[in-house]
Amino acid sequence: MKRCLNHKRILVTGAFGFIGSHLVNYSKSNGHFVRAVDIKSPSECYLPLKADSIIGTDLRQYENCLRATKGIDFVFNLAANMGGIGYITKVGAEIMHDNVLINTNMLEACRQNGVKRIFFSSSACVYPGYKQVTSEVEPLKEDDAFPALPDTFYGWEKLFTEKLMEAYREDFGLEIRMARFHNVYGPYGTYNGGREKAPAALCRKVALAKDGDSITVWGDGKQTRSFLYIDDCVQGIAMITESDCDQPLNIGSDRLVTIDELTKMIIQISGKRLKIVHDLTKPQGVRGRNADLSLVRKVMGWEPQVSLEEGLEETYRWIEMMVREEWEAPISVLSAQ
Ligand code: NAD
Repeated sequence: MKRCLNHKRILVTGAFGFIGSHLVNYSKSNGHFVRAVDIKSPSECYLPLKADSIIGTDLRQYENCLRATKGIDFVFNLAANMGGIGYITKVGAEIMHDNVLINTNMLEACRQNGVKRIFFSSSACVYPGYKQVTSEVEPLKEDDAFPALPDTFYGWEKLFTEKLMEAYREDFGLEIRMARFHNVYGPYGTYNGGREKAPAALCRKVALAKDGDSITVWGDGKQTRSFLYIDDCVQGIAMITESDCDQPLNIGSDRLVTIDELTKMIIQISGKRLKIVHDLTKPQGVRGRNADLSLVRKVMGWEPQVSLEEGLEETYRWIEMMVREEWEAPISVLSAQ
């Protein structure tokens, strides 16, 4: 990773989650003081955190946001109630309720505590459903978000918070930075339990399957997405926060693949012979989604460096190891008795 952040006292919220934990260690490796905050227990974080201070707290409460932001120069606000398509299409009210509270309280606490700059993790889910109706979809430019019609409540909340950020910039001069992430994947992320996203879920299914088995893909497999490896995402966050750009920027890949193609790549990495079956009763989200990177390339010269093949190899190996450890754990406990 080439760049480093120019700030000294950093707060990462959602720090025990997937992107947050990688960002904590990246910021620490650049020599900064890092405070890591999350509602979960640190033991639920897959990546060993190198933070200077680790705080478990609920950021839906304003007083907790005030405490978390005290003495901080720079906030990366990644905390969110979120998950893959199977999760976000089930619990709209809970997601909107929790995330509006987290983001509103965090922003006000940043203002009260004189935080210099705040980064918000928005999403490709802000883009309107009517621009994503075919598999061979046009890549989405930042301006395509309007006229707004996100297809999930999660996307509406992200769009609302982008506007809230802009209002705080206009009214109070807060320095805001925003990225719209497109399907970030990699090791040390959620891979089971119902909140996992497609790449992690597929890696888990392949890792659990025996040679000759079938694995289930949600939808008909012809829906398309682009996927961004975690290291490229963290690099993009760092570059956006250093830049002068206060508009939301796409942080994603523009390599469009079908979910079947993604699945076949993972199967190939595993070395197994597996059949794919489709479950048409499961949610598949928009038909196609791709990221247009022309603005982020122009503004900051950022683009992904890690190929989908390389990134999936890393992700699959980690998930395979986790799945194996889960299976082996009861056996070792038994043999120790
Ligand atoms: P994640 O679920 O792994 O991490 C989110 C973290 O926020 C979790 O550890 C969770 O415990 C924490 N959190 C939830 N509610 C909280 C609360 N009330 N107080 C404190 N912490 C709380 O998700 P992620 O993939 O790391 O995503 C990070 C951010 O990026 C989120 O804002 C998400 O919406 C956004 N995003 C991610 C993707 C992606 O592909 N992963 C895509 C678009 C946007």
